[in-house]
Amino acid sequence: MAQSDTKKIFFENLSGAGKAIAVLTSGGDAQGMNAAVRAVVRMGLYVGAKVYFIREGYQGMVDGGENITEATWESVSSMLQVGGTVIGSARCKDFRTHEGRLKAALNLVTLGITNLCVIGGDGSLTGANLFRAEWSGLLAELVEQGSIEAQSVQNYTALHIVGMVGSIDNDFCGTDMTIGTDSALHRIIEVVDAIMTTAQSHQRTFVLEVMGRHCGYLALVSALACGADWVLIPEMPPEDGWEEKMCQKLSALVVKCLGFDTRVTILGHVQRGGTPSAFDRILASRMGVEAVLALLETTANTPAWVVSLSGNQSVRLPLMECVEMTQKVQKAMDEKKFEEAVKLRGRSFENNLRTYKLLAHRKPESELPTSNFNVAVLNVGAPAAGMNAAVRSAVRVGISEGHRMFAVNDGFEGFYKGQIKEIKWSDVGGWTGQGGSLLGTKRTLPAKHVGKIAEQMRTHNINALLVIGGFEALESLLQLYEARAAYEEFCIPMCMLPATISNNVPGTDLSIGADTALNAIVETCDRIKQSASGTKRRVFIIETMGGYCGYLATVAGLAAGADAAYIYEEPFDIRDLQANVEHLTEKMKTSIQRGLVLRNENSNENYTTDFIYQLYTEEGKGVFDCRKNVLGHMQQGGAPSPFDRNFGTKISAKAMQWVTKKLVETFRQGRVFANTEDSCCLLGMRRRALIFQPVVQLKGETDFVHRIPKEQWWLKLRPLMKILAKYKTSYDVSDSGQLEHVVHNRPKDSDASVAM
Ligand code: ADP
Ligand code: ADP
Repeated sequence: MAQSDTKKIFFENLSGAGKAIAVLTSGGDAQGMNAAVRAVVRMGLYVGAKVYFIREGYQGMVDGGENITEATWESVSSMLQVGGTVIGSARCKDFRTHEGRLKAALNLVTLGITNLCVIGGDGSLTGANLFRAEWSGLLAELVEQGSIEAQSVQNYTALHIVGMVGSIDNDFCGTDMTIGTDSALHRIIEVVDAIMTTAQSHQRTFVLEVMGRHCGYLALVSALACGADWVLIPEMPPEDGWEEKMCQKLSALVVKCLGFDTRVTILGHVQRGGTPSAFDRILASRMGVEAVLALLETTANTPAWVVSLSGNQSVRLPLMECVEMTQKVQKAMDEKKFEEAVKLRGRSFENNLRTYKLLAHRKPESELPTSNFNVAVLNVGAPAAGMNAAVRSAVRVGISEGHRMFAVNDGFEGFYKGQIKEIKWSDVGGWTGQGGSLLGTKRTLPAKHVGKIAEQMRTHNINALLVIGGFEALESLLQLYEARAAYEEFCIPMCMLPATISNNVPGTDLSIGADTALNAIVETCDRIKQSASGTKRRVFIIETMGGYCGYLATVAGLAAGADAAYIYEEPFDIRDLQANVEHLTEKMKTSIQRGLVLRNENSNENYTTDFIYQLYTEEGKGVFDCRKNVLGHMQQGGAPSPFDRNFGTKISAKAMQWVTKKLVETFRQGRVFANTEDSCCLLGMRRRALIFQPVVQLKGETDFVHRIPKEQWWLKLRPLMKILAKYKTSYDVSDSGQLEHVVHNRPKDSDASVAM
């Protein structure tokens, strides 16, 4: 079927035929901008539009000529993994002037461009909006000057604008994340990890300066991710006497007789550099596709949109409302109304701040409450990066709430064998940055050993349980819930936190560890792709983990620019394999002579990685050759990504607060007794809210045979991956289109209802 046929079916109202879209990057560069440009170009071509690059931001638009060139499918190849912006960015004085914008309008109209996609900060977007408002006036002026025909004014009545926010600062209201922020956090945390090793060797104190201009997001979130001892952010100017307080805190850490030895590191532009993180590539790709759809749907009556992220949904918001809101925050900062600024920045910001304070500042023993409750923490299943951050957070929050915290080694196996010890505040120092599971983790389920486990619970007088792990953790909690009937020891509050690289736990959109594994896979794909740069005409087949869950294969496929990702959830047959061979054969005729195919380990019993490898090798004879890589356990190792550190930390803090609440609620007549469904919960992230869900209620949502949730949100990203790889497919508009108009008085995440 010809591509245009597919389009006819799915894009009847959304055809880009006859339209011209131009894309530019402006202001400061950020990692991920290239992924956004690539997505705009490919989606634009996919819907049948002409797409133009405008180089060097607004300057290129004003100067015209070679700065505005038509883009092709191949011209955006191999840029997904590149930092910065390949098409150049600039600050442009001319565009601030009327003459400048008049020239820019002439350049656009000459090429018939009436759709503009701007990737930049709030300054750039403000400029774009102004240009849009002036458009018809500018054209009239050009007619008057005799630069264009009067007919042009009729042909190009309106300029349609869509914005995407590229900025490492995450300072834009209306989106949860801006393109580049996650990558900047990666750079910062890499440096912190490196500094930590030398700091420990010398008993030194390090002061690190990070970027972010007037916004403390980068500093705050990095502080949270590395467990910094002190953080200074513009939203929270130091109070009087802070120097003394800080020194007091630090002197506890630095061996007294060595004295203070302090070093300062200013990170600077390192933060804007390097390869974009998996998250930024995906975010930018989704935004780019959404931006094109937004342009196609723009009419004279719709405002200019900015494409943004709300939880894991890409949405459109009125651009100027977001810009105004962002400027309001700035005004509050300028007027030193810091509390207001923090409020306007949104609940996520406040929540980060609160969690940071909770964990970094240890109260003296005498000031701690005593609850007389004992809480046990354990890891279950395979290790996942971020588990240790979750344990640290649980231990520290637990202690702050007055509980005695107990660590269980080696999951339920250690539990029934009695490997249980009290764990203190300082025992978990430095745990956020450690990969794997420091407590030790096993797949053993509790059912066979409930009697012995109950005995241990009695011996240690355990009043609540926090289980951190993947699908086995869920099964374990279900078993312990069942065991309540026979053993009162399990009639206590129990909570599980999803932690597995596979991201296959029902009740949550994301699990701790998945982001780290994703980055490991994407990084490896980059290397593998690069290894072919001299060889050419090579197709790589890469097998990823995930059990029956295709999350890693799909999302890594999107982030690495794969040609296909085979997964269990989307059955495939010999015709699909054939189509893919044909696709790759066609691709070898273009300038991109390289293919990348991901295969989830359990995607098909018979079409194994070896089978696909042999099939491709045979069918590709004379056209391309084939190599395979089974990634294996490298996906489970490594230092946790900033997101996994923070996610683990925040979700665990929330869980411990819930545990405390439940303990208080169920403490009657001298003992804890909890036997209701809602005292045995999974805490998961749904959209952008953290929600406690009784594990028994999750049974209906679960495919226990294949150990996956029956519904998985990320499946909607698959068409996107295919479109960007030039497949004929339909794009389910459900990832988009959700129009939200209420930005006014809506701080970043006021809709994040947090159920307790
Ligand atoms: P950012 O987009 O990162 O906030 P700037 O504020 O420096 O960065 O804006 C980038 C460019 O956008 C400026 O150099 C200028 O060309 C254009 N621009 C910004 N504000 C306006 C404005 N009010 N009117 C016209 N153009 C503007
Ligand atoms: P929160 O708002 O949950 O306190 P953040 O401010 O760190 O956390 O991030 C905002 C939202 O952006 C998160 O809720 C999450 O949905 C999304 N997000 C940010 N970084 C990542 C990532 N690396 N992987 C997946 N989702 C992410």
